[in-house]
Amino acid sequence: MKLVSECLGINASGHLTIGGVDVPALAKEYGTPLYIMDEGHIRGNCRAFTEAAAERYPGKCSIAYANKAMACKHIVRVTHEEGLYANAASGGEVYTALQGGMPPEKIIYHGNNKTDEELLLAVKSQILRIVADGPEELHNISRIAGELGVTASVSLRLSPGVTVDSHSSLQTGKLDCKFGIPIETGAAMDVVKLAQSLGGVALDGIHCHLGSPIFETRPYADAIDIMTAFMARVQAETGLQLKELNLGGGFAVRYLPDKGAPPIRDYIAVISEEVRNAAARHGLPLPELVLEPGRSIVAGAGITVYTAGGVKEIPGIRTYVSVDGGMTDNPRYMLYGSQYDVTLPERAGEEKTQIITLAGRCCENELLGKDMPIQPVKAGDLVAVLCTGAYNYSMASNYNRIPRPPVVMVRNGEAFVAVRRETWEDVVRLDV
Ligand SMILES: *Cc1c(COP(=O)(O)O)cnc(C)c1O
Repeated sequence: MKLVSECLGINASGHLTIGGVDVPALAKEYGTPLYIMDEGHIRGNCRAFTEAAAERYPGKCSIAYANKAMACKHIVRVTHEEGLYANAASGGEVYTALQGGMPPEKIIYHGNNKTDEELLLAVKSQILRIVADGPEELHNISRIAGELGVTASVSLRLSPGVTVDSHSSLQTGKLDCKFGIPIETGAAMDVVKLAQSLGGVALDGIHCHLGSPIFETRPYADAIDIMTAFMARVQAETGLQLKELNLGGGFAVRYLPDKGAPPIRDYIAVISEEVRNAAARHGLPLPELVLEPGRSIVAGAGITVYTAGGVKEIPGIRTYVSVDGGMTDNPRYMLYGSQYDVTLPERAGEEKTQIITLAGRCCENELLGKDMPIQPVKAGDLVAVLCTGAYNYSMASNYNRIPRPPVVMVRNGEAFVAVRRETWEDVVRLDV
């Protein structure tokens, strides 16, 4: 049976394993619903990026893990140990990175509308880079840096006008989008000049993030040409040589057994080649490159284990299987219609002869997926949704006052809790 991720297996008892550890045993020990992640798989993905970058790109290439995919202190420690930088998308993610021991000089802070409180934390901590998404934000950074008597290193999030083949909510590099300062309208050049005129900010680079997941390498090549052409125009018009080109993340993963994604080294090979060529074409020195993978570092390392409750067969229509979790731990089907592979951890080796619709337990007509092949399932069975390491825990909510599941990490054949299970007491903790 083909499994979507290399950290998954099937043992002699026919049980699903993750990182070599028996999944039903973990479900028994920690309860369901349960997120399980394999640390070795995360480390392997980190290395796939750093090694490919070292091999392929002749200049400096930093890999910054996008914490919005899955942030907790343990993940920060693991990515830091693997030599990665941290991309943060909010003050809370900057704070988590700092608390997890990521050095400030390795943190890059993004977002299209940062608050003063968040900017204060970033400027005061002297993080590596604040990526400004508009003139208002540049003014705010300049004011806060001025008050503190420091200079903040900034980059600009630009919109290169590249549309990728993904859900519209996940296309973030096109012109009609809340993110990024458009290049084609002239706004980007105006903001570069503004940055040069403001005190307290040093403009060190430009950034774009096209969207996610991007199953082809072509959009990166298109964006590289547009971004480097812009760098050359900045140099010609203002004399400023921007040193850093940050191309964001968006690298795809295998969610379904028959829909593969390019290997990490292929993305890096294309990007390295294109940046070298484009820099030469536009008469630029080789820029320092930053890549910001999130999903591709953690997605395949995680699974979610539920217990099936009701099985409702509507003859000729469909069979609903309700589990003890739902959009509160994985809202991605509801948001984007995302598809997942499912299996029964206790009978993972058996053939998938049934098609089900996986329903959550929220008071909402909410699903985790439709028309999913699975082994014959009955109430009480464990059900695993695979490839949930990215944008599941990080997007989880307490809707219906449902406590969030814990994150159990597997390392060298042993399991430990990386994030504790929430309780009903946790749910009322902030109520006055
Ligand atoms: C979301 C995001 C990323 C990571 O995207 P993935 O698809 O998870 O790789 C990187 N950079 C920026 C600016 C982002 O917003």
